[in-house]
Amino acid sequence: MDNTLSGIKNAIRHAMNGAFYKERFKGIDAEDIASMEDFQKLPFTDKEDLRGAYPLGLQAVPDEEIVRIHSSSGTTGTPVIIPYTRTDVQDWAVMFKRCYETAGLTNLDRIHITPGYGLWTAGIGFQAGAELLGAMALPMGPGNTDKQIKIMIDLKSTVLCATSSYALLLAEEIEKRGVRDKIHLRAGVIGSERWGEKMRKRIAGELGVKLYDIYGLTEIYGPGIGISCDCERGMHMWTDYFYFEIIDPKTGELLPEGEIGELVITTLRKEGAPLIRYRTHDLTRALPGKCECGLDYPRIDTLIGRSDDMVKVRGVILFPGKVDELLATIDGVSSEYQIMIDHLNGRDILTLFFETQLEMGEPAAALEKQVASEFKDRIGLTPKAKAVGIGELPRSEKKSTRVFDNRY
Ligand code: ZN
Repeated sequence: MDNTLSGIKNAIRHAMNGAFYKERFKGIDAEDIASMEDFQKLPFTDKEDLRGAYPLGLQAVPDEEIVRIHSSSGTTGTPVIIPYTRTDVQDWAVMFKRCYETAGLTNLDRIHITPGYGLWTAGIGFQAGAELLGAMALPMGPGNTDKQIKIMIDLKSTVLCATSSYALLLAEEIEKRGVRDKIHLRAGVIGSERWGEKMRKRIAGELGVKLYDIYGLTEIYGPGIGISCDCERGMHMWTDYFYFEIIDPKTGELLPEGEIGELVITTLRKEGAPLIRYRTHDLTRALPGKCECGLDYPRIDTLIGRSDDMVKVRGVILFPGKVDELLATIDGVSSEYQIMIDHLNGRDILTLFFETQLEMGEPAAALEKQVASEFKDRIGLTPKAKAVGIGELPRSEKKSTRVFDNRY
């Protein structure tokens, strides 16, 4: 039998030791899964389902084997609790070490870790990977910019681990204080989220470092299950620990390589809280072929957005990430925009509001024409483009509120 399938069957058998999958897969026998097609008929697991298993319903091993708990931040009510065995904790560190090695780090590096420590998986994952690599870990956690920069200078940190927004803030502070020549950073390991090329260039330029995107989510170990390499063409995924699929988020159908869809992960070795066909809601695609860096691990593309933000208009699937990218290439357009989708007289109408510093009237009208035409060329839909002044669109904490679908 195919190795992948036998690995998946083992994972399913093990998962069914826990209360959650015992119930969810009731009537399913792992022995009956004879092909990948059979596997693809299994139901997905979603974050909502995991909330229902609160607190320890996901646990698939006896209590004495659990050595640690993590939790994904519950922005809406009940958090998700993920129990880890000693092997899970070690496996995670092995994957994280591999990430650092892919970024070219060695035991001579000094790794400045700004993600938070606690129930959340961030900081401690960066830490464990650094220690396994034999590098010097600087467990800073977030905040206190003065101290961050002092330690960065005095301890000669060579690697910055941060979210993109915190990396940008530190880069700006370093610039403002005129201490860039006292900084020894050479690499940045940045938690993957959708962030534009403009921001990436600014951080890399201001800090004078090479940046690597690290991928992960608390439900599947945490950050460190994949990372970009020097070729900067997507992120390598450590598929000896998990199996991934890309699905159509609306229909659940498996998509062919190269097509954009939602990343779904099945853990192959996780003991404490195994997950089968877990929907990450991250939009990406599987990149075909072998990477020029020589690593054999398959790659996914840089995240394009969240599947919850994806909308279909006149048969065209619209990803907000693609709109960000498009607007970033047009001079005179700010990064702020809003999309309204309405259904009028039997037709879907897409209105794109964007901000510009140009004067309203003639100059703005010309820009509207250009935006509409480039939108049509690159996205395949003709929008009604409407220019507004800088600061006129509402600012929101969450980027996901850029698209308003008023059709239903
Ligand atoms: Zn590569």
